[in-house]
Amino acid sequence: MPRPRNKPYGITPREAMLIPEGTPRQRIVELLNGTRLSSYQLAQMLSIAERQVEEHLTHVVKTIARDKTRQFIMDPARCQDCAFIFRDRSRLTRPSRCPHCRSEAIAAPRFGITLTVSS
Ligand SMILES: [Zn+2]
Repeated sequence: MPRPRNKPYGITPREAMLIPEGTPRQRIVELLNGTRLSSYQLAQMLSIAERQVEEHLTHVVKTIARDKTRQFIMDPARCQDCAFIFRDRSRLTRPSRCPHCRSEAIAAPRFGITLTVSS
């Protein structure tokens, strides 16, 4: 994919806007392709804060939702003490406490992007 990043001049306002914001999102999409990663792992890979990853992810989810060829996958968070699964949770962040056993040992949700088979 061509990246108009090395042009010192002639950057359109739109490109200038995309450089700080768009690039980590593109990288998140690339990193999630065909795999599953937690926001913590993404934060490590991109050298940004986990909170920023979560912000980017909410936009990535919307982008992928519009893309009929790809699907955003979220493996839900899970309690490590009683194996409760946070199935109904749509938020991307890790829940702090299990509603079932009150444990705080929660395995973070993991995200991925898969290709949908076109018919
Ligand atoms: Zn639990």
